[in-house]
Amino acid sequence: MAGYVAGLVPWMQQRAEVLDRESRFPAAEIDRLRAVGALEPVLPVRDRQRNDAAAEALASLLVQVGRGNLSVGRVLEAHINTLHLVARYGTPSQWQTVCQSVRDGALYALWVTDPPDGGLLMQRHGDRIRLTGAKQFCSAAGFATGTLLTAHDPEGNRWMLVVPLGIGETVTPLPAPLSGMRAAVTGAVDFTGCEVSADTVLGQPGDYLREPDFSAGAWRGSAVALGGLVALVDHAVAQLRNAGRLDSPHTQARMGEAFIARETARHWVRTVALAAEDPTLDTEHRVATVNLGRIAVETACLDAMRLVQRSLGLTSFRQGSPVERICRDLATYLRQPAPDDVLTYAARWFAEHPDASADGAVRNTSAPETSAPETLAPETAALR
Ligand SMILES: Cc1cc2nc3c(=O)[nH]c(=O)nc-3n(C[C@H](O)[C@H](O)[C@H](O)COP(=O)(O)OP(=O)(O)OC[C@H]3O[C@@H](n4cnc5c(N)ncnc54)[C@H](O)[C@@H]3O)c2cc1C
Repeated sequence: MAGYVAGLVPWMQQRAEVLDRESRFPAAEIDRLRAVGALEPVLPVRDRQRNDAAAEALASLLVQVGRGNLSVGRVLEAHINTLHLVARYGTPSQWQTVCQSVRDGALYALWVTDPPDGGLLMQRHGDRIRLTGAKQFCSAAGFATGTLLTAHDPEGNRWMLVVPLGIGETVTPLPAPLSGMRAAVTGAVDFTGCEVSADTVLGQPGDYLREPDFSAGAWRGSAVALGGLVALVDHAVAQLRNAGRLDSPHTQARMGEAFIARETARHWVRTVALAAEDPTLDTEHRVATVNLGRIAVETACLDAMRLVQRSLGLTSFRQGSPVERICRDLATYLRQPAPDDVLTYAARWFAEHPDASADGAVRNTSAPETSAPETLAPETAALR
């Protein structure tokens, strides 16, 4: 699948400029990804078996999509996140329903961020739930057909709900739009007055924050970001070559460092994909490893942006150029929650476990490897 999606990358890259300029949702891209099965569950998430080949295949898919267009990667990543949470916490019937809806063309969002002035409240009335309040930073707002929401009940418990969309919610643009990731169409959604069935409730109170799923899932965002980094370096090299600047030793030194950043991120993404998706590993080790990887990939992307901008100069700030857009998208996308906490958690854990390593999370496991589904196996060789 990732091999096929790699073939879509030039088309996605060519369309990315207009989608960004017009803040237009990448509906055609999502359609093509759906057509090759990329929106269906890729990993054996429901039975929670270790499957390294499938984890690498998912990483390759996300890298490819991020390489084509970071906004598309963000939308796909949220959809996959919702599927994983339903697989993890849903009843058999909820899982079947969601899988069937995906086969029928559903696109799921994941809206969990509360506005500063209050979150989403849920009140049960028999087998119905009434919602009051809004979510902010909602990607695919107005385009997703269903979403996972977090909401508080009157006792203060935090629940997950998987709800259909088009139930009377109001979608509005953010009061101040994001400067990057414009094609992800990230808005605000008010659910006040909407009613859903009680069987939309997923799992138990507090499940959304339960580890390792809460933190370890961040690896998929890192994989998408790596795709953006790969595209950035590719575009920079092409532009420097066209300008006859690649022979300069100063440029070579900077691009050498950019290649190191890219390859560092690539190693980390493979490590965190395997660690995060291996249910046999120790929870804290898994979380600490993914946390380190998230910050390592963020650092690699920030380093590469600085090096590319320094090498290309003002050209890299020309609106409409791929380098300008990817830097703007990456800089925005890298702003994920609580990076300080993520790093200090990992620092504390690794300090307390001097014999542990991030790689060790992968190497030390004794669980047998299972093979990827046949359709995925050929693409797992490289995260590119
Ligand atoms: C492109 C894009 C799409 C998104 N789409 C969605 C979506 O579909 N659904 C959704 O729910 N959300 C979405 N989000 C929002 C996302 O989930 C996070 O809410 C957001 O990225 C958090 O970013 P932040 O920089 O404000 O994080 P923060 O956690 O506020 O971090 C900002 C800084 O403050 C520090 N910090 C955090 N807490 C404290 C504290 N208590 N005291 C001191 N310092 C602190 C952090 O370490 C960091 O340095 C999206 C975000 C982006 C960028």
